[in-house]
Amino acid sequence: MLKLSNGNPSNEAFLVEAGLHGREWAAVLSVLYFIEHIAWNFTKQPDYIKNKDWYIIPVVNPEGYEYSMTKNRLWRKNRRTFSGPCDGVDLNRNFDTNWGTRDSSNNICAETFCGPQPFSEQETIAIRNVLNGRRFTGYVSVHSYGSAVLFPWIFDGRPSFHRDHHVPVAKEMVMSLKYSIFNLCKYLLIFFIHENE
Ligand SMILES: [Zn+2]
Repeated sequence: MLKLSNGNPSNEAFLVEAGLHGREWAAVLSVLYFIEHIAWNFTKQPDYIKNKDWYIIPVVNPEGYEYSMTKNRLWRKNRRTFSGPCDGVDLNRNFDTNWGTRDSSNNICAETFCGPQPFSEQETIAIRNVLNGRRFTGYVSVHSYGSAVLFPWIFDGRPSFHRDHHVPVAKEMVMSLKYSIFNLCKYLLIFFIHENE
C-alpha cells in the first residue's frame, strides 16, 4: 500500500484500491496512472487533493492478477486453494456486509463464490485492517469494465444513509469521465436496478 500525503495533521483519509478481481488489468493501470499523476504534479494539485492522506492499493489480489496473465486471462477470484475441484474466492463478495446474499454463490466453482465465511481471505482482511486503522472519509474500489459508478446499498436496493451525498458525487464522477448523456442515463439505470458487476 502506498500513502501519499503532505503531512498536514488535519488531513482526511481516502482509500483507493484496484485489482480485487484478477482479470481487471485496466483498473490496476488506472490507479497506477492516478498515483503517477498526483505524485509528479503534487505541488500543482488543488488543495482538495493535496490536503488528504491518500492510501492506495493498486493490486489487492496479486495472485489472481498474475494468474490472469500466465494461466487464465479471465481469472477473477483470488488463488485460495480448496480440496475440491475448484479454487478461489470472489473477494468482492467476501466482506461481511450482507455476506452470502444477493448475487453471491456458495458454490466453490462459481465466479461469485463468497468464501467459507466473511473475511476468510487474507486480501479482504488486509483491507479491513486498513479501514480499522483510522477514520476514512472515502473509499473507492476501481474495477473494469462496467461503465458504471456503483454505491450502497447494492445488496438489496435500499438507499444508504449517505445516498444524498453519493448521488451528486457519482454524477460528478461520470461527467468527469466525459460520458455521454446516454451513459449517464445508463449509470442512473444501473443505480436503480442495483446491478452489481
Ligand atoms: Zn471487479
